[in-house]
Amino acid sequence: MRFRRAPATDAASPPATPRAVRRALPPAGQLRRERRTLLLVREEKLRDLGGLMLEMYRRDQFRQDLLVDRCIELGRLEERLAELDALLAAAVSRGRTRPSARCECGAPIFWGSKFCPQCGRAVSGTPLPVESS
Ligand SMILES: [Zn+2]
Repeated sequence: MRFRRAPATDAASPPATPRAVRRALPPAGQLRRERRTLLLVREEKLRDLGGLMLEMYRRDQFRQDLLVDRCIELGRLEERLAELDALLAAAVSRGRTRPSARCECGAPIFWGSKFCPQCGRAVSGTPLPVESS
């Protein structure tokens, strides 16, 4: 059984918020509130996804479509979170650059990662967003 990402059409769906539109920067407090809420939603959805996966394992019945749907949903959520981080970084520390997050093994850690994609070490805490502009 192999898990693959959704077909390109789904994966390429545009994020909820268009990035190209230039708007005034929302107040940092508002961004932080949305970020906090999304982080909680994300934790819950991750737990659900893990529980669902475990249940499927127990029954030896993998419904890939269900898992993929939830992964897509989580992907969108993380996209918005990354966007919020970028907005916050712009609002809070204009011009200041941050080092990108790295694992002890030296591999770059992507936003929201729990494990290093290279060595599998658990990542402690939420890494700072990798500067991308
Ligand atoms: Zn690593």
